[in-house]
Amino acid sequence: MTQTNYTDKVKRIAIIANGKYQSKRVASKLFSVFKDDPDFYLSKKNPDIVISIGGDGMLLSAFHMYEKELDRVRFVGIHTGHLGFYTDYRDFEVDKLIDNLRRDKGEQISYPILKVVISLDDGRVIKARALNEATVKRIEKTMVADVIVNHVKFERFRGDGISVSTPTGSTAYNKSLGGAVLHPTIEALQLTEISSLNNRVFRTLGSSLIIPKKDKIELVPRRLGIYTISIDNKTYQLKNVTKVEYFIDDEKIHFVSSPSHTSFWERVKDAFIGDIDS
Ligand code: NAD
Repeated sequence: MTQTNYTDKVKRIAIIANGKYQSKRVASKLFSVFKDDPDFYLSKKNPDIVISIGGDGMLLSAFHMYEKELDRVRFVGIHTGHLGFYTDYRDFEVDKLIDNLRRDKGEQISYPILKVVISLDDGRVIKARALNEATVKRIEKTMVADVIVNHVKFERFRGDGISVSTPTGSTAYNKSLGGAVLHPTIEALQLTEISSLNNRVFRTLGSSLIIPKKDKIELVPRRLGIYTISIDNKTYQLKNVTKVEYFIDDEKIHFVSSPSHTSFWERVKDAFIGDIDS
């Protein structure tokens, strides 16, 4: 955990909510409290703290809204459903959040994010950041692509596609694909296959790879055509992708650290196992 000195500063707060009735109710409560508090200034521009109200999907959207300001922004999530992975507070805990923000001295907890660089055959290069994962698929035909890990031509993949996830994204799509759950303080990326073709002729490793920060992952499609690339909750159709490179980004996502920050293993248990006492 690190700390930025906010003690003498009015905190600029952005409140972002999804369209659910419950989320709007929580947002209006926060607006009414912070608008009359001289220690806070409500603004969607250059915020110090972004409060996302909704679920993990809303936090993903808030992350992308402020992805160019990650060096100065801290996020905090309120879930208006069950406990989420990126949301520390439930909707009935708003007063606790307000108290914690009043006492806040800039403590933060930070997690790695993914940088993706996509090259197209017309020379264009598209750069993106992902909080959960980036997936590359070829929908119309089998995707054939070389997987290169740290300059080693590792395998020729044939199948639906490839997912590369962050540690915090390991519990999302990556887990559904059979990938491992990674503690978010481990600075690594996870490459997971999406329905690989494996038989006597075509061979891939089959298990997911956990790749350290210093190693680069490259995906080189062997066929021209349309590729479907998803970055978290956004999907793009791109023509003639020649290369996709994956790195751990130099920036991290910062969350407001508070006494309510639920431990990662608690969240995993809550989401996937539930109560084990019978
Ligand atoms: P959404 O908000 O409906 O999210 C889908 C589900 O994923 C929700 O239950 C959400 O709580 C959960 N989720 C999101 N991030 C998570 C994380 N880091 N750990 C555990 N669960 C997480 O839909 P959306 O807004 O489009 O969300 C996009 C995300 O959905 C993608 O980043 C991807 O990880 C996930 N997704 C999952 C599958 C799958 O599991 N088969 C398929 C496509 C997308």
